[in-house]
Amino acid sequence: MTHLRTVSDLLWRTRWALVVLASAWLLMASGLASTAALARGSLPLALGLGVYAATLARAVWRELSPRTAARTPRAELELGLLIITGVYLLVALTGGLHSAIHPLVYALVSFLLIIHRTRWVALAWLASIAALELIVGANDGTLVVYHLGFIGFFAAGNLLILGGLVARLRGEHEHRVTGELARMRQEARDFRLIAGSSGRSREVDELQLAQGAVHGIHEQVAFNLGLLRDALGLHGAALLWLSEDALVLKQAVGPADELCETLSGPGVLAGICRDPHPLTLKNMTERRLPPYYRDDRGGPVVTDLCAVPLLRKGQLLGIVCADRTGDRPFTADEQARVAAAAQLVQRIVEQERVFSAIERGKYEQEQFYRASELLSGALGLDEVYSKSFRAIRAIADYDLAVITGFDPDALTHRVLAVDAPGQADREYGGDWRGLSEQLTDLVFEDGAGLVAMAVKNRHHMPAGDERVEPETVVFTLHTRMRHAHSLLVLPLVRGDQVLGTICLASARERRFPRPIREMLRVISHQVSVSLQNARMYRAMEERATTDGLTGLTNHRAFRERLAQIHALAERTGQKFALILTDIDHFKKVNDTHGHPVGDAVLKRVAAVFAGRARKVDVVARYGGEEFVLVLPDTDGEGALLFANKLREEVAAQTMTAADGTTFQVTVSMGVAEFPHDCRDPSELIERADQALYRCKHGGRNCVTRWSRSLAAAS
Ligand code: GH3
Ligand code: MG
Ligand code: MG
Repeated sequence: MTHLRTVSDLLWRTRWALVVLASAWLLMASGLASTAALARGSLPLALGLGVYAATLARAVWRELSPRTAARTPRAELELGLLIITGVYLLVALTGGLHSAIHPLVYALVSFLLIIHRTRWVALAWLASIAALELIVGANDGTLVVYHLGFIGFFAAGNLLILGGLVARLRGEHEHRVTGELARMRQEARDFRLIAGSSGRSREVDELQLAQGAVHGIHEQVAFNLGLLRDALGLHGAALLWLSEDALVLKQAVGPADELCETLSGPGVLAGICRDPHPLTLKNMTERRLPPYYRDDRGGPVVTDLCAVPLLRKGQLLGIVCADRTGDRPFTADEQARVAAAAQLVQRIVEQERVFSAIERGKYEQEQFYRASELLSGALGLDEVYSKSFRAIRAIADYDLAVITGFDPDALTHRVLAVDAPGQADREYGGDWRGLSEQLTDLVFEDGAGLVAMAVKNRHHMPAGDERVEPETVVFTLHTRMRHAHSLLVLPLVRGDQVLGTICLASARERRFPRPIREMLRVISHQVSVSLQNARMYRAMEERATTDGLTGLTNHRAFRERLAQIHALAERTGQKFALILTDIDHFKKVNDTHGHPVGDAVLKRVAAVFAGRARKVDVVARYGGEEFVLVLPDTDGEGALLFANKLREEVAAQTMTAADGTTFQVTVSMGVAEFPHDCRDPSELIERADQALYRCKHGGRNCVTRWSRSLAAAS
């Protein structure tokens, strides 16, 4: 169906050419197109030839027209058929197949096969040549057969030899074109007009693109000033820009040896700086030279000056100046032209502002991205603290950073981590190190300090951009930061909870301006998330390793810690000791006072052990009313002394029963040391247990150190 539609569409589009072709063929078939008819001056022949010539001219015209983008197969077919028919008309009119010009047909076959683009079109052409050969030579069969043989020969030769050659030439041409395109693309890349596919990152390319654009803007300003100079016959023209309350020379055109590179002051333009209105001066003396000229004797004698301020929202941005020598005052029209040029320059420079903002923004974004990426991987609390400091350091420049935690139940704040990079110590004389030591692990009440305020208000402090006084209280009265000239306290907010704060201090001024603060605010959100995650992680870990009743390390975790301490001792050659404890007659406590009181006793004993132990010691509930302590870097003697202290302290505790009566409990303890008493952890436990057993048999409320003699006796 689609083929049918294509063919019918083709026929419809070529209908006029087809009618003309059919008429020409009919003329030839009917013998009307012959030498005799031509001699007779036959009217149908003349008409047919006229229409044919017009159609051919139209097709050729269309082919050569510059508006024809590419030749379609239809146009190709049409033009070829018209040429073929034309050649055969000539042949028919000059004596048929015997005509002296018949060899033109062979030339035509070669020509058509060279220029053809579409294979089916070439086949259609050959078919029509064969048909016309039959029509024109209807009464000379033998000659037709010869001719067709020759045509077939030419066609085959062409397709094989010339066709290949043309295809190669076409291929070479296309190759040249693509090569040229690639070269142009590379050049564009070299000029940084498009992002390159080189190893460099896209950001780097974009940055260079922006820089290139900024350079272009400078050139544009120079070009416009130059234009103004030529148009108004100026001696010089300049763009001055207000940067941090001082005028700087951005661009100047004029005699190079007279212009200065940097301004020494506003000079004659001081008035405009105070009151930004257009200024026109005439009959100036040498002393009032515009500030962009060198002020030595070689300077020009500028007599006339037209200065136009550039304003944004009433604020002075810069000044465009035009000057002349030789007492030629600026007319009102010329002043208007300077003002128009100034407006154009302002637009160009504002573009530059946008570009540099993009540049800076990109850099900051990158830092920011790195910082937040850093935080997302932190799992443990210490890791969260250190990574938070690193993330903040990537954005802000501080001398001291503190992370505090807020306890909403106790209404207290605790310093969780402190970072004092310390570089500024010597430069600014601030004792940040001393302060950071003072702050470490500090717990302070909720009060009127900036930390407390930030938590209360859930807003950064100081609230505005106000300067901080040296007496400002951040944590407590005793930890005031007298060297801080910049301070920022950000609350760590998570949902409806305030987890704490991040406090930053610097001896330098204006270290935490609004854009930095905004980024830090987002970082502080991430710190909050990481902090909460780390707390949850720790809670989960604790649940898995802690005994629910006493809060001590559970049996499984004790085994792990023992293995770790043992491995460390093996490596370092250190000793360590183990104390196994059992409460005496505990069954009786349960029986007399009930199970809940028994539980309370277990908790109290656990608290005594935990309260006495060092940070490195492991205090665990071994099971039931048995406890175990592992003391790294401690020998048997030391452990014995320590165990006795614990035993005495337990005995000194007064327990209260449900009915108010009081009672005491005692404990028995067995001590063993690695490596003196045993070879491995399980033997260590076994030995401590043997010593404990000895206690129980020796009257309880005592401590026994394992020894070989003890083992031999039992
Ligand atoms: P000994 O001086 O020989 O150790 O005497 P004892 O009564 O303490 O004897 P034993 O160690 O065999 O008794 C342990 C008792 O501790 C048995 C059990 O009822 C009690 N117990 C174990 N776990 C718990 C607990 O979690 N809570 C309470 N209340 N009692 C417990
Ligand atoms: Mg027991
Ligand atoms: Mg017991």
